[in-house]
Amino acid sequence: MNGQIYRFKVGSFHCIAVSDGTHIYAPPTFPPPPMFLFTNAPTEPLEQTLRKHNLQQEQWAEWVSPYICLVINTGEHRVLVDTGANGLGPNTGKLLQNLKTEGIDPEDIDTVILTHGHPDHIGGNTDAEGKPVFANARYIMWKDEWDFWMSEQAELKLDEHSREVLLGYARKNLPPIQNHLYTVDRETEILSGIQAIAAPGHTPGHMALAISSEGEQLLCVSDTVLHPIHLEQPDWYAAVDLDPVQVEATRRRILTRAVTEKALVIAFHFPFPGLGHVVPKVEAWQWQPTKTTS
Ligand SMILES: [Zn+2]
Repeated sequence: MNGQIYRFKVGSFHCIAVSDGTHIYAPPTFPPPPMFLFTNAPTEPLEQTLRKHNLQQEQWAEWVSPYICLVINTGEHRVLVDTGANGLGPNTGKLLQNLKTEGIDPEDIDTVILTHGHPDHIGGNTDAEGKPVFANARYIMWKDEWDFWMSEQAELKLDEHSREVLLGYARKNLPPIQNHLYTVDRETEILSGIQAIAAPGHTPGHMALAISSEGEQLLCVSDTVLHPIHLEQPDWYAAVDLDPVQVEATRRRILTRAVTEKALVIAFHFPFPGLGHVVPKVEAWQWQPTKTTS
């Protein structure tokens, strides 16, 4: 593993966690990380939890967040989950070059699944001319999510601070894929072995995925949780979570499922490669990262 690419298998499916880079969330653009990630956390429990994770509130000045896309080769299909954030920061937009080192050209991808409409998940959809980068692919998104970003709903619901960047990315990266788009509105199989899971809250049509082959399971939770501490404190929501009540309900449902199915989990913003298992702990859960060799 080189921090950019990590290959693994789910049954007979060949999967790759592919980094799009990292992005720094810090003041003045964003609140300090503890406030950004755990907006409603009470002071005392927050300090305790951070100490347990060797994080000191005053010294945790910036959150360097990984962006981790996923490639699934089912044998029949080459699927890409999320397209990264081309142009968002100096260290994002590395998806294509990382795919290339794996011998994957954009034309090889036949299905692009977009978990939601945030810049870090759709920001590699189009090139400088505004054309779809994955020219041979059909694009899949949850219907509520597409409708949210393509209507005035987004403008109304987003706070002033984030509106400009979020809407800018949506307007650049969503209309050009419209003719290649298939929306889902229920927990259906997108392809054989890849099922859509409703995971609303972070955004209205945020989607998780259950990937299964030969009895093995991978749950792609995307932004259901942004930090491993969210497993321990599922009611602590982030500043970018649109509906906190839905976020908690979705987290509880999906984390329970991960435990029940003993599924491998991939989380978009967790330390690379974002893979691990969910372990039950007291009244919540804990993250157990997959051991990887470098
Ligand atoms: Zn994200």
